[in-house]
Amino acid sequence: MEGWKVPVMTPQEIAGLRESANEYWWLPGRQARQDDIREKLIILVEGQADGKGCRVRDAAGKEYLEFTASDWTASTGYGREEVAKVAYEQMMRIPHVDPFGNQKLAVSTIKFAEKLAQIAPGTLKKVFTISGGSEANEAAMKLTKQYQQKVGFPRRFKFISRRYNYHGATHGTLGLDGTPAGANRPYLMEPLAPGFLHVVHPYCYRCDFGLEYPSCDLLCAKQIEQTIQYEHPSTVAAVVMDTICPFARMAVPPPEYLPMVREICDRYGILWILDEVATGFGRTGKWFACEHWNVVPDIMTMDKQISGGWLPLSGVVVKEEIANKFIGTPEDALANGHTWWGHAVCLAVALRNIEIIEREHLVEHCAEMGTYFMNGLHAALDSSPIVGRIDGLGLMIGIEFVKDKKTREPVMGPPEAAVKFADRLVERGLLVHGSLLSSLILWPPMIVSKAEIDEALGILEKTVREAEKDIL
Ligand code: PMP
Repeated sequence: MEGWKVPVMTPQEIAGLRESANEYWWLPGRQARQDDIREKLIILVEGQADGKGCRVRDAAGKEYLEFTASDWTASTGYGREEVAKVAYEQMMRIPHVDPFGNQKLAVSTIKFAEKLAQIAPGTLKKVFTISGGSEANEAAMKLTKQYQQKVGFPRRFKFISRRYNYHGATHGTLGLDGTPAGANRPYLMEPLAPGFLHVVHPYCYRCDFGLEYPSCDLLCAKQIEQTIQYEHPSTVAAVVMDTICPFARMAVPPPEYLPMVREICDRYGILWILDEVATGFGRTGKWFACEHWNVVPDIMTMDKQISGGWLPLSGVVVKEEIANKFIGTPEDALANGHTWWGHAVCLAVALRNIEIIEREHLVEHCAEMGTYFMNGLHAALDSSPIVGRIDGLGLMIGIEFVKDKKTREPVMGPPEAAVKFADRLVERGLLVHGSLLSSLILWPPMIVSKAEIDEALGILEKTVREAEKDIL
């Protein structure tokens, strides 16, 4: 591709950077030093200009289709001067306003809150922002406890979440997590805070009850109610979940599931916290994933695409009826606050990012491209003996690999096949999340074109077909 601006580095310069990275930088989930970092680390220097494509380029000049959208954040692409200008101008005016003490706020903070209240569904109207998804979920839990005390349930401290779901890496959110990346790693992070309970996820391909939809009668949703009754409703504060779960191979819940959860929570006066950290801001083909089921949670947490990856940001939006309980005396004030609460530059940028999504009709585009990608994947890969399932919504798609399509036995090895698979994708210029030993997550920026999807489909088909020979 023409038009790259950053000069290509020499092999010596790249080797030097890789050495330094291995020596000084700690990548999440990695050992303190690992040979493959020194040998294979991809050093990205540039994204395609003007939000015109999904391509990024590394220090050696190699181009890739960035189908992780930079860890699910980049919605409006890369290299947009108008976004950089907004950040620059806000930095030159006032970068951050002390969120504590006397009343003071930046204009961009107020404008952002107004905009989010406009696009959030139902009566989700009261907004605050912080820096990461884990922090947002922590804040939602604290707010819930305070709310339950206000409405006369001081013993409601328990949170019901689900297996496979991921809600963060902080100590509090580890209790919510139901993934191997969370509390149940081989080493212990325990003791965690008490009161975290886990129910099954509606992951129908691998139902924990061994049942089939619809004859299962949605036992997974009913288990939430059973758990509330067993623990006693006076002790449960909230049910916490995401909608489409990347860590359950992008399993999309059956149509009845989320409305049932809403009804159960309402019946017991228990709050429903919906984690739209990954799904929010258009990716699924609606502004928020819950809109596919016409349900509105009591508290919604968000992150990632909220600022299009341009700056770190997360948010919490709360139903008006709940926020209204925090009015009256000084004791009614929200018992929370962080340094980066309502950061003026992040919010000026996030506001512009939302304006671009609207101006370029990217929510509708996501729905259209999602269908195109999904159809292409089915056509290319349904016949593969190692592709068990392709699932997702909009531009959130997962491919689950199996050793045997009939028994659904997962691919367990050999690990070399997984390394080869990942290397081949990189060689062919496709960046994706996941592994042959579990699933691939396909998550391009929302601006992706049909031509880019076709290119990715070609690479995926070729690489999966080769992997068949390695693992069968
Ligand atoms: N919730 C969900 C659904 C997520 O996908 C993530 C991050 N992958 C988080 C919460 C945690 O967000 P962060 O990494 O910004 O703390």
